[in-house]
Amino acid sequence: MQNPLARFVPQLAGEYPKSFLKLFDQVSIPSGMDSEEIKQNLWKAYEYGDRHHEGQKRKSGKPYFEHCIAVAEILASWNMDPTMIIGGLLHDTIEDTNASHTDLVENFGEDVAILVEGVTKLGDIEFSTREEQQAGNFMKMLLSVAKDLRVIIIKFADRLHNMRTIEYMPRIKQHRIAMETRDVYSPLAHRLGMAKVKWQLDDLIFKTLNPMAYKEIDSKLKSTTKERERYIKKVTTALNDELVKYDIEANVYGRPKSHHSIYNKMSKQEKSFEDIYDKEAIRIIVEKMEDCYLALGVIHQNYNPVQERFKDFIATPKTNAYQSIHTTVIGPEKKLVEIQIRTEEMEATAEIGVAAHWKYKERKGKDSKGMDSHVGWLRDLLDILQSEESDPREFMHLLKIDLFSDEIFVFTPKGALVQLPVSATPIDFAFKVHTEVGMKCLGAKVNQKVVPLNTMLKNGDLVEIITGKNQNPNYGWLKFVVTSKARNKIHRFLKEANREASLKLGEEILIKTLRRLKKLDLQKEIESSFQKFGFQTKEQLMEVIGNGTMTVRKILEKITPDSEPDFDLEEETPSRFSFGTKATKGVQLQGIKDVMVSFGKCCNPIPGDEMLGFITRGRGLTVHRFSCTSLPLLNEQKDRLVPVDWDVEKTDLFNVRLKITGQDRKGILKDLTESISSQNINIKSVDMRGKDSVATAHFIVQVNNIRQLDRIIRKIKKVKGVDRIERAER
Ligand code: MN
Repeated sequence: MQNPLARFVPQLAGEYPKSFLKLFDQVSIPSGMDSEEIKQNLWKAYEYGDRHHEGQKRKSGKPYFEHCIAVAEILASWNMDPTMIIGGLLHDTIEDTNASHTDLVENFGEDVAILVEGVTKLGDIEFSTREEQQAGNFMKMLLSVAKDLRVIIIKFADRLHNMRTIEYMPRIKQHRIAMETRDVYSPLAHRLGMAKVKWQLDDLIFKTLNPMAYKEIDSKLKSTTKERERYIKKVTTALNDELVKYDIEANVYGRPKSHHSIYNKMSKQEKSFEDIYDKEAIRIIVEKMEDCYLALGVIHQNYNPVQERFKDFIATPKTNAYQSIHTTVIGPEKKLVEIQIRTEEMEATAEIGVAAHWKYKERKGKDSKGMDSHVGWLRDLLDILQSEESDPREFMHLLKIDLFSDEIFVFTPKGALVQLPVSATPIDFAFKVHTEVGMKCLGAKVNQKVVPLNTMLKNGDLVEIITGKNQNPNYGWLKFVVTSKARNKIHRFLKEANREASLKLGEEILIKTLRRLKKLDLQKEIESSFQKFGFQTKEQLMEVIGNGTMTVRKILEKITPDSEPDFDLEEETPSRFSFGTKATKGVQLQGIKDVMVSFGKCCNPIPGDEMLGFITRGRGLTVHRFSCTSLPLLNEQKDRLVPVDWDVEKTDLFNVRLKITGQDRKGILKDLTESISSQNINIKSVDMRGKDSVATAHFIVQVNNIRQLDRIIRKIKKVKGVDRIERAER
């Protein structure tokens, strides 16, 4: 500064430093406050800080006070009030200069002094090697936070700037700070609803801890910028035009997703960069809440929405007060576009969370429910702290993950944090991680130990899911899963599986019964009579026959009402067809013979198969093959599993279902049938379909035991064109 006067009374000399004016420009003046007065106060703090930090340098070689200005600017960008911004300018004065608490009170008042002291108390937090001390520091942090939440907001601004300038730190320190930010600040930002802060931090953490991956995504993003911008422009322009037509005032813009979130998607969904479609999202900011729904209507009218991706967080806000409508539509050029719709106020809450409540305090009046709930949480935590002689490490744990009592956080083997409701089980976890993982979940390890699938997960558990190719969801799971995603997926799967099974069984029962009655000629007529029974398709009719709600006898009575009811029809029941013919005599339970036995519909065991019995309440013993995937995995049910032995005559016959796939060549069915019957094996049913030159045949054959079955299989394999033979489950 050339003019020495300018330093102390720049307003007289008419020259404030540029960096001051830049900061002041960003400060929003609360209504009813005098802009000039605020400028004077701000300048006083600026000058004070500049003077006290004089001569101090950051690692980058730049004057230390530039960091303080940057922190104040971040706070201004969050629309914090002048007191907070002054607090930001001075946040390091007590810690790093000779300024004292009393000094600050005298010059800037009690409020500013409390803020600066609060930030100072948080101190510089050391990581990992001094865990206990770190936890201790966090206690201080929380204590001061509970006194004044503004302190933590300044701390976040401080941390954000430190992360932005982390490249000047020695590599080892970078790593430590980034990990600490990842483990403490990022989850805390999430809890406080500071989404924008969180994603900025996450991106910087990612850049620091995984620079290679970051660079790769960065260069790919850069090389596709033009194309993405063109597309976003096309969409925003179109949307804008539509909204104008309906008189909805809106600000429509494209918002790039962070490197971190793209990377996350890529690794979570195992996709390549090119396969991630929503690298950008569209955001629509409207004035009133009603406009959100109006805008949504307009969008869905123009573009087809993707059903399962629609989320209304306005009707049901997230626990951290986040509100917005999310929808994904099939946009122009048939590309998927994610759109978020919200009001300005929701936008502020979504971006800076609790901090937004200072901005809207005047306007909103008493309506500060969102913030109260956060403060409530902090106070609870404080209570725990004060009431118990808590181990600092314990507390650290609590702070890291036990932030809301209705949610828990567990870790994937790779260390990613997964948020789940209380009482969640490994199955919930599996579905949360990925639907496919849930569908194929076979077992789980928690903290390296194999556990039953109904184990309740606890905060901090390390959860690993073991999957099996042939595993599928079963009814048992529904008893303990708690997340709706898991529940829905399991339900959907079981329903479909049931339907298919009933359908096949129905077809089988029909043919078998008609054959017995020598009325096979009626088959076509019955199959096409579904409308008479109130069904829309033949399949629906077969289904009800299969699941036992409709009998072939009833159908026949209706189709041929005049024929005598002469048939002494012992109605075929599903079990007679699909399981061993010796259903009740075939096995022995530890020497006891007279037990009610049924065979697992799923795996259809035959003599020679290793088996396990499962005691079902009220239905006796169900026998499964040892390898059957629907055998219960739950520990609590383990004592209901009993070893069983076969107890059969050599001549007893058992039905086995074989699935044969091969080329759909002429004569293959004849060859298959001949190959089987040449061994004196009864074929009970044949079903063959060809599609895309692949033939799939289902045979039900009758055998005495597994050795005989193996022989047939070997023989069938020699038939020309056969690729694969499986012992089919139903
Ligand atoms: Mn600082």
